[in-house]
Amino acid sequence: MKKNKLAPKGSGAAKKLNIKKLNIKTKPPALKKGIRIEYAPSLESSDHIQLQKTYGHFIDGKFVEPRSGQYLATHNPATEEKLADVALGNSQDVHDAVMAARRASDKTWSRMPGSERAKYIFRIARLMQERARELAIIETLDGGKPLRESRTVDIPIAAAHFFYYAGWADKLEYAFPNRKAQPVGVAGQIVPWNFPLLMAAWKIAPALAAGNTVVLKPAETTPLTALKLAEIIQMADLPPGVVNIVTGAGATGQALVEHPEVNKIAFTGSTLVGKKIQKMLAGQGKKLTLELGGKSANIIFEDAALDQAVEGIVDSIFFNQGHVCCAGSRLLVQESVAKIVIRKLQARMDTLIVGNPMDKNTDIGAINSKMQLNKIEEYLQAGQDEGATLYQSQCAVPNKGYWVRPSFFTDVAQSHRITQEEIFGPVLTIQTFRTPEEAIEKANNTPYGLAGGVWTDKGAKIFKVTSQIKAGVIWANTYNRFDPTSPFGGYKESGMGREGGLHGLAPYLKF
Ligand code: NDP
Repeated sequence: MKKNKLAPKGSGAAKKLNIKKLNIKTKPPALKKGIRIEYAPSLESSDHIQLQKTYGHFIDGKFVEPRSGQYLATHNPATEEKLADVALGNSQDVHDAVMAARRASDKTWSRMPGSERAKYIFRIARLMQERARELAIIETLDGGKPLRESRTVDIPIAAAHFFYYAGWADKLEYAFPNRKAQPVGVAGQIVPWNFPLLMAAWKIAPALAAGNTVVLKPAETTPLTALKLAEIIQMADLPPGVVNIVTGAGATGQALVEHPEVNKIAFTGSTLVGKKIQKMLAGQGKKLTLELGGKSANIIFEDAALDQAVEGIVDSIFFNQGHVCCAGSRLLVQESVAKIVIRKLQARMDTLIVGNPMDKNTDIGAINSKMQLNKIEEYLQAGQDEGATLYQSQCAVPNKGYWVRPSFFTDVAQSHRITQEEIFGPVLTIQTFRTPEEAIEKANNTPYGLAGGVWTDKGAKIFKVTSQIKAGVIWANTYNRFDPTSPFGGYKESGMGREGGLHGLAPYLKF
């Protein structure tokens, strides 16, 4: 038998080993600012992805050319290369789609037993799972988000929404006992560019389960996964007209909102457009849910597990380049630990990799569009002009494409624009507080009320603080966790109504 040179002689191994001699460090090296571990590239291939040069609308079960004959280009924000042209929808296209949805509602879908509807919805979920890799790659190419996120968050959770709501389709009478729930009819659904397929799933799955038909308008810059979903819907043999997808710009969305045959509007997007839609629909009796912007506070108490909290900060603001409505974009940290938290955060930020979203090592991908890049850069300048101090990691970024290094501001006042307005990018503001009361007051001091986070070792403090923050979702000792069974939505200027869970069915039903 070979002698193991490292094996200790006798008992009391740890004591007798000469650790210094073996060059084993008893402590991991401290993370110093600027130290980065270099990883070999781990690129996902897109060779097998089949994209058409041109996509029409998906109306009445078929892809059709736009009535105007006009198309919009969609680009990869990481390379600025064109991916495809998609139809630019006008009010006639919207009309065709809405009338297809109306016919499908009257003739098939609303009359079909819930157990039959469930089979179709399950089938969509299964097909999404089967094509998960393809969907994740297209989401990353079209939107700029790291593949690591699209394949572990966007696509699996989108499929999970279809699975979850398929389960409710034949149980509506148990979900709403003694209330005789009926579908509302045709739902017009408008989604933004930050989680294109996931937002489509949030909207379509509960609507179908509740017996409604749908016209979806994807965002201008990220229409491709919705069009792939149209292919899946064809494969699932969903009756024609049950789901229709009209691509285009803001005016296309507006035509959908205004169409008299639409019974319900579900909108996710900016507060500005949400307010416009609410005004347009005033007095019309159409049902409306609005999932709008946010400026959520992530509160770190001195008794929190600080290393975990720092990971939570990274997750809350740098996930999806900060293009997240519920991003913890305002860090409130207790004064006694502020210095150490900021130091740890700086060290962690210096290890984040910004770059090719198709590389599985990438932490922060491309900003979704040139327009959004300009908006973030404007806020970076505004923050400095107002007197805040900017810190940005110094990592390299590619020459082409749209990029923002992970950033935070200190010396921030509650009145600064960067503290009050939604930046929708990888930019954090940091403020301190001394007491839980001060943290609560600062957390609530915005026009928004979408989400928040609390980090503390004390359960009682979690309940005390979370119960006084006016926000739809608050995470404790974690951040950005999503589950189809859990309702999501805002207060104040973050919107009205809930999506997800049992609550997410109610807006698609009349009683
Ligand atoms: P916008 O409000 O600009 O756009 C959202 C969608 O509405 C897009 O499909 C857009 O089309 C369409 N649209 C634009 N103008 C009109 C109009 N007048 N009538 C009808 N539809 C219209 O938001 P962004 O795309 O910039 O998305 C980012 C915003 O979305 C952020 O504020 C974010 O907080 C919010 N959001 C909220 C979530 C929530 O659940 N609360 C989740 C995700 C995002 P087009 O793209 O062609 O302009």
